[in-house]
Amino acid sequence: MEDFVLRIGHLYPEQMNLYGDRGNVLALVRRIQWRRIAVEVVAIDAGSQVDWDSLAMVFMGGGEDSHQVHIAQDFLDRGPDLLPRISQGMPMLAICGAYQLLGSEYVTNDGKHLPGLGFLDVRTEPGKSRQIGDVVCQVEGVSLSPSTLVGFENHGGMTTLGREATALARVHTGSGNNGMDGTEGAVRQHVIGTYLHGSLLPKNPHLADLLIRWALEYRGQDAVLPELSDVWEGEAHQAMVNRANGSRRHR
Ligand code: GLN
Repeated sequence: MEDFVLRIGHLYPEQMNLYGDRGNVLALVRRIQWRRIAVEVVAIDAGSQVDWDSLAMVFMGGGEDSHQVHIAQDFLDRGPDLLPRISQGMPMLAICGAYQLLGSEYVTNDGKHLPGLGFLDVRTEPGKSRQIGDVVCQVEGVSLSPSTLVGFENHGGMTTLGREATALARVHTGSGNNGMDGTEGAVRQHVIGTYLHGSLLPKNPHLADLLIRWALEYRGQDAVLPELSDVWEGEAHQAMVNRANGSRRHR
């Protein structure tokens, strides 16, 4: 792995960065460095030039409606670069507002229709109230051990899965996609869309490692990762499970 550098494309780090989403990139970077693999984060802002062939994975966080409006056209314009790559196994983690824009359409709270890239067969419209609070869910859409994910949701959009969509997880505590069908997020190939902020990856290191393995595989590298001691991360994860179990947002 001498010359290999695992490059993470971070889409719209200024606009799409709510509730600690940037922490996901920090968690990926540290977990990659702890495996003695070189890593670089490439910020992708609206209008910036990107060497897509140099990237191993992509991250995009959540954003307020006004920020989604701001970057929506640029994101659509990047479809011809991004879509063929994620169709060929490039991993992407898309949180909340990013997840919404990977679907067919996001309708903002004040009625603006933002077309999405349509990679995930999901559509999002404004709900009657915002869904805010801790989420605990069981992953079903990918093989993950342990299968629990914890996070924090805060979204006005209600997402409906289309026939082609596979839910990422089943909600145990919280609302997830729409508060009605018990689903949370969506997954297709190695693209994960989810409502979980918080940051997600520091509290779910098993998901961080899955993304890193996918990124290494995508770049043709050895994807066997040495185990790390995740005592603190495990405690953070368990603390959230316990807190959510004590809350009244059970389904
Ligand atoms: N603006 C979107 C919504 O309210 C996304 C919010 C977010 O990314 N947290 O649904």
